[in-house]
Amino acid sequence: MLFKNIDILDENFDYIKNCHIGIDGEKIDYIGKELPDKNYGRVYNGTGKLLMPGLVNAHSHVPMTLLRGYAENMKLQDWLTKRIFPFEAKMTAEDIYNGSMLGFAEMVRFGIVSTTDMYFMDEYIAKAAMDAQIKCNLSIGTTSSGDKGYYDLPVFEENNSLIKNYHNKENGRIKIDLSLHAEYTSNEKTVSQLAEFAQKSNVRMHIHLSETKQENEQCKQRHNMTPAKYFYTNGIFNVPTTAAHCIWLEDEDYDILKENNVTAACCPVSNLKLASGFCNAPKLYNKGINVALGTDGAASNNNLNIFEDLKIFALIYKASFNDPTVITPKQAIMSATKNGAISQGRDDCGAIKVGNKSDIIVLDIDKPWMTPNHNILNNIVYSAQGSDVVFTMVDGRVLYEDGEYYSIDIEKAIYNANMSAKFILSKL
Ligand SMILES: [Zn+2]
Repeated sequence: MLFKNIDILDENFDYIKNCHIGIDGEKIDYIGKELPDKNYGRVYNGTGKLLMPGLVNAHSHVPMTLLRGYAENMKLQDWLTKRIFPFEAKMTAEDIYNGSMLGFAEMVRFGIVSTTDMYFMDEYIAKAAMDAQIKCNLSIGTTSSGDKGYYDLPVFEENNSLIKNYHNKENGRIKIDLSLHAEYTSNEKTVSQLAEFAQKSNVRMHIHLSETKQENEQCKQRHNMTPAKYFYTNGIFNVPTTAAHCIWLEDEDYDILKENNVTAACCPVSNLKLASGFCNAPKLYNKGINVALGTDGAASNNNLNIFEDLKIFALIYKASFNDPTVITPKQAIMSATKNGAISQGRDDCGAIKVGNKSDIIVLDIDKPWMTPNHNILNNIVYSAQGSDVVFTMVDGRVLYEDGEYYSIDIEKAIYNANMSAKFILSKL
């Protein structure tokens, strides 16, 4: 496929007008001002359009689309125990698949090409991701109670089977990570054994870290150290880790994250909704920590339109740190693309570069709210709508274009998700 006369964000996230981009198979094969000699097949007219890297969602719980709008205006603990957990307890494998297909449809519609997910019954999320042809780092959020260690838990066998059957499948689009749900939902034996298993299995880690003040304070009471120090001490950061939220980090925690190459996945909309607080994104950047962007689940967002998260991400730290100069549009866009790809262990994704995987989106910039174009980076972050995405490609395959979904039967996905939600409610 050849994108002709299209504006792009290049590998340095600089704006280049009127380029030609050739896609060969799954890769970006040509970027240039001159029309290439090679025949790339289909020609896409790029007039009035912007081509940029697809967005990477660094923290999601994709089947939670079924809980969209189900629990609102509640305190976190009530939200979890009175609404979320009882609903989730009734979800079947089919519901997990249906919720995932709905979520993946929403993601490709809004330009997300890859997501780092944490949930349960991941085999069915993997099946949905394979059908939807989206990229996904999947993990089961390990929890434990009592004295049981990781090797005593059913999740140990589940992870063995997931790694054997799905890790690096679909040309590497599916990756299996390990996940520890959080400090407060597991015991120390589980944490250290999971860390050991991750190293042995050579896979990545995904955790919730310092999301609430209560979590931080109680961890300090229990272990006499912050959650970041506790995870570090127990070996969790011995493998590349994505830590969602990172709101209540203390001074030393930033050094721990930096020294261990931990990615901080900021989820600003979810944090606003659950009143969890604000992470110190400017400090994370200043410390040289890899900062990525996540939607979190649809129960706390309430959509997977990551352009909303991008705008809010670029705004709230200005207000919360009383400094309008923090978080540049380029930083925000890189967090929503390349930094997320790095956190997933996908070094050849997340940027428009020859040899990279062709994970591309196209925005229609010939719109009133995108005019004039003084600085396209400003327009992408502060003016663009998720619905401006008119084209989404993963590994060189078109998944969405101008209202059409090519890997998902959208009517069926919506119908099945509605049926699943109704069925679960009937059991509550
Ligand atoms: Zn989460």
